Amino acid sequence: MQLHNTLSGTKEDFVPLDPNRVTMYVCGPTVYSYAHIGNARPAVVFDVLARVLRRRYPGVVYVRNITDIDDKINAAAAKEGVDIRVITDRYAAIYFEDMAALGVMPPDHAPRVTEHLPETIAMIERLVASGHAYEAKGHVLFHTLSYGDYGKLSGRDEQALMAGARVEVAPYKKHAGDFVLWKPSTDEQPGWDSPWGRGRPGWHIECSAMAEALLGETIDIHGGGHDLIFPHHENEIAQSTCAHGGKVFARYWLHNGFLNVDSQKMSKSIGNVLLVHELLKRVPGEVIRLVLLTGHYRQPIDWTEEVVSEARKKLDRLYGALRELADVKPAPGVTATDGFIAALEDDLNTPMALAELFELARAANKASAADDKARIKAQMLDAGELLGLLQQAPSAWFAQAPGSDGAPSAEEIEALLAQRVDARRNKQWAESDRIRDELKARGVLVEDSKDGQRWRYA
Ligand SMILES: [Zn+2]
Repeated sequence: MQLHNTLSGTKEDFVPLDPNRVTMYVCGPTVYSYAHIGNARPAVVFDVLARVLRRRYPGVVYVRNITDIDDKINAAAAKEGVDIRVITDRYAAIYFEDMAALGVMPPDHAPRVTEHLPETIAMIERLVASGHAYEAKGHVLFHTLSYGDYGKLSGRDEQALMAGARVEVAPYKKHAGDFVLWKPSTDEQPGWDSPWGRGRPGWHIECSAMAEALLGETIDIHGGGHDLIFPHHENEIAQSTCAHGGKVFARYWLHNGFLNVDSQKMSKSIGNVLLVHELLKRVPGEVIRLVLLTGHYRQPIDWTEEVVSEARKKLDRLYGALRELADVKPAPGVTATDGFIAALEDDLNTPMALAELFELARAANKASAADDKARIKAQMLDAGELLGLLQQAPSAWFAQAPGSDGAPSAEEIEALLAQRVDARRNKQWAESDRIRDELKARGVLVEDSKDGQRWRYA
């Protein structure tokens, strides 16, 4: 298996430290509001990676954290006049539900910072004791000049980093690039007792502390969105490496690309922020998942209505092929094709893997021998499982309502089709055609096959 490592800038052979326990940490959401479609991309991408890794290494341990201490959470809680736990429990639950609707399996651990404060404080204490961090005005700061490799992941040097920083430098910092490990809380703000007084951790330290607590000092894979490379991941490396006496923190760094909407960056000011929760009301989760996997994970994705409708048609094709094989029992012990697996093991090349899957669907439509059908069905289902697709019955796929675009519900369609059966039985061909045309006008396509009528949303 090969993975592109951001740290080296090249595709490398993936060799885990311990093949019996492959460790992966992915930065999860800050739970103060609904997740947008950009937040869903790493959840889906790393879910596929976890599935592919598990084939080869059954002992994968996948951690994706929940950030439940953050100033945006504090602001949301203050606005509603509730404890931060009310906000974080609500949006963490919604996040898990929404990701499940996209076929994302829960990671092995979903730790929260509030559950790992002793470890977080202990790590900061170690950094202070070893001279990599210092206390100033109730804050504890990481001293970036104390770590020679700072900037290596993002490929920026310290001078360039500082030249790019437009923020005003706090007077208590020894160096402009130093970042917060712990900060004081006012009486109104949530806070926890620490050797430096009542306060709360900065964002970066939580991932270092939770990765250590659940996975150990050196992990195999660390993932996240491209926007986390600097400063978040750069800071995680500095903290963990210095807290562990120079040991390597993460061996492979993987980052997914950006997601734009109609060629524009999502932003509140443009008003084009797509929340997964809202999207799911009109687009099936499987369609969203397929859009997110249609491009290679490192490339940017442009989310448009066209790609959504394309993805829907692609799933119609795949489920259509499986529907033809509805009565065929998948051949036992047959897994996805070598070409399909090779594509995914080549730095998670999902576009190529999907091309293989469509090739199988074409072969399925042409197959006539029973054992060919059984083999192809098994190959398609197994490939689908690795991608987190095609896991429902084709009839369930074709029956799901397409959303709020005025199309009739499945019940209404079935009722009209029953009338059409009667009409045909009575040789009322004009009535039969009228019902078919009415459905077509309302976005439902009816096909007459040897097994009777079939329908799908256009
Ligand atoms: Zn993180």
